[in-house]
Amino acid sequence: MARVNRAAPEQAPLAAVSGNPNVGKSTLVNALTGLKQHTGNWPGKTVETVEGLCTIGEEAIRLADLPGVYSLFAHSAEEEEARDFLCFGGAQAVLIVCDGTCLERSLNLALQCLEILPRAVVCVNLMDEAARKGIRFSLPALQEALGVPVVAASARSRRGLKETVHAVEQVLREAPASPLTVRYCPAIERAAAQLLPHLQGLPQPGPSARWLSLRLLEPEEDWTARLTAFCDVLPDSAAVRQAAGEARAELAAEGVSPAMLQDLLSSRLVAESERLARIACAEPPEGAFDRDRKLDRLFTSRATGIPVMLLLLLFLLWLTISGANAPSALLSALGEQAETGLAELFAHLGAPDWLTGAIVHGMFRVLAWVVSVMLPPMAIFFPLFTLLEDFGYLPRVAFNLDHLFQKAHTCGKQALTMCMGFGCNAVGVTGCRIIDSPRERVIASVTNAFVPCNGKFPTLIAILTLFFAGSAPGGIVPALLLTGVLLLGVGLTFLVSRLLSATVLRGLPSSFALELPPYRRPLVGQTIVRSMLNRTVFVLGRAAAVAAPAGLVIWLLANTQAGGESLIARCAAFLDPLGRAIGLDGEILFAFVLGTPANEIVAPILAMSYLAQGSLRELALPELHGLLLANGWNGVTAVCMVVFTLLHWPCATTLLTVYRETKSLKWTALAFVLPTACGMGICFVIAAAARLCGL
Ligand code: GDP
Repeated sequence: MARVNRAAPEQAPLAAVSGNPNVGKSTLVNALTGLKQHTGNWPGKTVETVEGLCTIGEEAIRLADLPGVYSLFAHSAEEEEARDFLCFGGAQAVLIVCDGTCLERSLNLALQCLEILPRAVVCVNLMDEAARKGIRFSLPALQEALGVPVVAASARSRRGLKETVHAVEQVLREAPASPLTVRYCPAIERAAAQLLPHLQGLPQPGPSARWLSLRLLEPEEDWTARLTAFCDVLPDSAAVRQAAGEARAELAAEGVSPAMLQDLLSSRLVAESERLARIACAEPPEGAFDRDRKLDRLFTSRATGIPVMLLLLLFLLWLTISGANAPSALLSALGEQAETGLAELFAHLGAPDWLTGAIVHGMFRVLAWVVSVMLPPMAIFFPLFTLLEDFGYLPRVAFNLDHLFQKAHTCGKQALTMCMGFGCNAVGVTGCRIIDSPRERVIASVTNAFVPCNGKFPTLIAILTLFFAGSAPGGIVPALLLTGVLLLGVGLTFLVSRLLSATVLRGLPSSFALELPPYRRPLVGQTIVRSMLNRTVFVLGRAAAVAAPAGLVIWLLANTQAGGESLIARCAAFLDPLGRAIGLDGEILFAFVLGTPANEIVAPILAMSYLAQGSLRELALPELHGLLLANGWNGVTAVCMVVFTLLHWPCATTLLTVYRETKSLKWTALAFVLPTACGMGICFVIAAAARLCGL
């Protein structure tokens, strides 16, 4: 269930970190453990349990960051995962992270956690934001009422970390003397009390006997079977089962049906969290949420929501394109110098020509390309995107697009998974877990590759800039075109989702509640630096792991002769008829085939493969333009290349992820076929139309 940080020694005590979505759990766990989990201002992004080691306090503690949930009644996969981890995951204590700006809702979950694991610490996070809203707290009074330690924190600015760890250590050493027990109506209490004697001596760590006695009153789930699986020492499961049956019968006799039971339990928890919230803090002052309301009018109203969204996207892409040119040129010049230097070094060492060719002109050249062409746009786009994410804008995108998704008979949360797909389609596919309906989850997974990922962006930017920049200044034309390309991807997502909903994945859209989080001021400097560094490390890592070996393979293919022709030329010749039919050529198609491990390497492979047959040696952008023209490219080829870059089979990692998530070869095959068929179809039409017009 949990992904274990390799550095975490198994012996350290384990504390679960639980809380509502978007309250700063991942930020807190990252700060305490040094993990680098994704954080972002929208509910639902932590979908699996992640574990790390906290060494801030006196002794090391393992912390397991659970998926964010609103309750533990297990209505969704995340709720079930969080609840099962608290019950059977081996956690000795629970750290409950609460939202200081919305304490009442957080306390509802806190009470449920406390019922399972009374060794609990309540951490009221986002104190800085609460202070900004003018909310005043009395946390000692809350501590007194809850009977467990309560600490204040601002995880993002690392305030309150030590106190939090200290409190966790304290409850690990010694269970709180009198944690609050929520009392339900007499009928429920009597029924639960009947079961308690049968649940003594449960192994610890594990769920409390009181919590289990309450669950055994609910008929939906076979808790006795689960318990027997958890502890083969359950005193007598047949007796427990019988007692549970009797207790349920008595409850029913007192007029409490199973549906009523759930209502009674939930409403009691709500009332208790209201009472506790009144003890802990005063009502936020009038007007505390005015700014959010004004921003929401701008970002989500019918008149301005979508235009503002498009303008923001255009602005982001324009900044990326116009800002990437200079660093790209610089990195490319540096790469060239380094290649010359390396070649000289190899010559000096007496290396044979083939070795210099394979390592320097093969591996190193592709690596340098990936770095110079791929890195700058990524290093600009992603920090900006992260800023928007931290600000809380992404759920507003989902909100704006919701009615379109409804029309496509799918779920508005798909917009969030598409936003994740911008970074990496594999991440987007994993993110589809936030969608509850299995049918809609499959639709979102198999269409995720319609939004271009990290690896496709730079190729799109390069081609649009080289062929269509025109004389307009500052990259505005390519930015407009790129916006159009993205919209094409989004439009096709709607269309294909609708088609799937009407055919193989038939069904009506489910209703869902999308919470719009508060707007939060992002930490601009920190976000830019962190996301640039992460991106740089990621791109360089990918370059080393995939691009360099691919460079070697392509060099070998280009330099191994068979029947008087290089292997690459033969493969390309084989694919040429199909390539030409869709407005491309054999080399381009072969580059896409070889680029299956990662989209980043398609363009460099293509350049290498053209170079292998020509004499050009440089790889900077202007020379690339010349290289492409020399290989018969024209505007139509460029358009088809852009379309096919956007729409072809997803990379190997994404396909594997689709398989992992859906456990179905059929859906994985569909994820492969859908974008490929769309890409080939559109390119074919463009090429045919161009031929008709004599272009
Ligand atoms: P999770 O869903 O509970 O794991 O929440 P995250 O850790 O991803 O945080 C949600 C958002 O709240 C992110 O944008 C964080 O940067 C932000 N955040 C987290 N802790 C704090 C805090 O103490 N103060 C402020 N102002 N923002 C915070």
